[in-house]
Amino acid sequence: MRFFLPLTFLLLAAPWPLPACAESINGHDYVSLAGWARANGFGGYAVKGEVFVLTNKTARLLFNKDSADSVINGVNVRLSFPVAKGGFISQLDADKTLRPLLFAPKPAAKRISTICLDPGHGGKDTGYRVGRFFPRSEKTYTLALALELRQQLNQAGFNVMLTRDKDIYPELPVRPDLANRCGADLFVSLHFNAFSTGDPASVQGPETYCITPVGAASSNDAEGAGATHAVCAANRVEDKSLRLAYQMQRALVRSLGATDRSVRRARFEVLRSAQMPAILIEGGYMSHPVEGKKIFDAGYRKQMAAAMVRGILAYQKLTAPPPSKTNPASTNKVSSAKKPK
Ligand SMILES: [Zn+2]
Repeated sequence: MRFFLPLTFLLLAAPWPLPACAESINGHDYVSLAGWARANGFGGYAVKGEVFVLTNKTARLLFNKDSADSVINGVNVRLSFPVAKGGFISQLDADKTLRPLLFAPKPAAKRISTICLDPGHGGKDTGYRVGRFFPRSEKTYTLALALELRQQLNQAGFNVMLTRDKDIYPELPVRPDLANRCGADLFVSLHFNAFSTGDPASVQGPETYCITPVGAASSNDAEGAGATHAVCAANRVEDKSLRLAYQMQRALVRSLGATDRSVRRARFEVLRSAQMPAILIEGGYMSHPVEGKKIFDAGYRKQMAAAMVRGILAYQKLTAPPPSKTNPASTNKVSSAKKPK
């Protein structure tokens, strides 16, 4: 037997934000930040000039008017769409950015055991080159960082595989495929950035990328193309990748005292087919007069690798399953699940 409830009852009983809080803006569904805050346990809501501030006992969120820049508990996160109309956030950002970062994930079925590191470029592909008389190639420093990071991850109890351990060029799709075939638990692609137009001293700091959600344009795509891109394998674990990107960016910025260039989204070829949480790190700008010198210094790369280990351990702590005596990664200090901040 089927029952048909009156429409008014359904509207009153609806658990999702009430119609007064929802709007369509530029063809996308938006919800008011004030309504979202009320529905999600953020008792504090204030507008300070151009900034919307949402707070509760453990979290503080900042959103800039007409901007995709947000700050989630002290870490810059680029939203998929700008905050609009005096305090509306896209439903896609509410679902695909705020929810994964603010609410505790289910514990993972398996501990992180094997990590695939992908030193960007290599062989025929130098990556960025900076310096007129003694040019330095990105491919050299991504490999040096990967070798340092492998050593530190091994010491922390992880197994590590590399997509290259010398100056060769594995094609881009081969890199995540290798991680898939070997059953890696995380995929981390390592790069450095360079600024080609304008004052090189004006841009510095790490950026951490994860896959763009379906329906959104990527952070590095000012034209907005790609929003119609089909779902890819990486979208199946996009919440986990975002959490990993967040913990990595947080660790890099805090440990290195670096400028925070945000957690960002992109459909990079090396990310699209990864079946495990996958991120791409731009570790800083080789073109910056101060940061560039640091990147070329082995001591600084050692610090950067240590920060990356901290980022991975923080991610593991967030999602950890019960400790297992038989898992080789069980020697890591972190063993219990904990709610995110
Ligand atoms: Zn690169």
